Amino acid sequence: MEQRHKILILAELCEGGVHKVAYELIGKALELYPSGKSVVECLILGNGEPDVAELCRRGAETVYYMKDPAFEEPEEQLYKENICAFIREHEPEIVLIGATSLGRSLGPRIAAALRTGLTADCTQLQISTEEKTAGKLEQIRPAFSDNILAHIVTGTMPQMATVRYKEFPEAVSDKSREVNIKVIKPYRTEVSGCRITRVYRELQENIQDAQVIVAGGRGIRKKEDLALLKELADLLGGQVGVSRALVDAGLAGSSMQVGYSGNRVKPALYIACGISGAPQHLAGMKESDVVIAVNTDPSAPIFSICDYGYVGDLYQILPQMIEDVKAW
Ligand code: FAD
Repeated sequence: MEQRHKILILAELCEGGVHKVAYELIGKALELYPSGKSVVECLILGNGEPDVAELCRRGAETVYYMKDPAFEEPEEQLYKENICAFIREHEPEIVLIGATSLGRSLGPRIAAALRTGLTADCTQLQISTEEKTAGKLEQIRPAFSDNILAHIVTGTMPQMATVRYKEFPEAVSDKSREVNIKVIKPYRTEVSGCRITRVYRELQENIQDAQVIVAGGRGIRKKEDLALLKELADLLGGQVGVSRALVDAGLAGSSMQVGYSGNRVKPALYIACGISGAPQHLAGMKESDVVIAVNTDPSAPIFSICDYGYVGDLYQILPQMIEDVKAW
């Protein structure tokens, strides 16, 4: 029988369920080769009883659930060692990982340990038809501040990519699909020779699913002032995002960053406060349905892409907006 191409998707648990990027990756993986020529499998690490069967309903042939109390909290070193051991044993041709905070941290660690290549933050995947690379995974991602699309093919195996969330439609759930879940034991539950001790884990905001984002940039003077954004975001049922300027200044965590090297978001409403609108920021939010900009500089580039603009001081306009929303 003809050998089928084995594609492994590293799924991730998030707030008790499976992160939806896995459903998008399954959909894309199923499209890569003609029907019947590939086998799509998922590996997920965790503890408890999450609904991992949904991964099969979306199209995964087998879900390997590596279950252990040691995986209650995602510990990158321990995850990496177990995932590498699994990959060495199962030998997938392609490994796809969602470009979430965890995925972005794990991907390079796994690739380095397996001595293979990794393309980060892909926005498209296809099988190459070029003469020299025919049959290999072509990993496509924006480069040079979104000015070109780089097509990358790795010569080493497995071919690995982290893929941005919300780039592909989710695979459709089909209840008639066979559910094949294999609960497997971890290869190890302690990290060998690790000199790193986790001191604390910061609770990270998940802004990628937010329908409303109130985002702040360098116009925010100090960390405490983010409370203004939070108050408005809470009133609108949204989340707070930031430009890279605030992350670099240590005012916010990178999980809150919107843009080219941060999160790509598509909310119904994006309120940009004290953000100039650099191309790298716009790359992450320009697909928002409605954009409101607040900026003291009328020539700020953000005004050229916004639907509604306030020229003025965010420290005056935001409190006014908050009062208006409360009164509404
Ligand atoms: P600034 O450009 O300094 O703008 C601050 C704005 O605030 C100004 O327009 C000013 O008029 C306004 N302002 C000041 N005070 C007030 C006030 N009181 N009220 C209202 N408005 C006020 N950036 C990102 O955001 N995300 C990314 O993912 C990202 N990735 C990058 C990747 C690369 C490879 C590179 C080279 C850069 C990247 N950047 C990214 C950085 C980007 O180029 C800009 O430097 C950054 O977006 C600027 O942030 P900002 O708009 O907050 O700051």
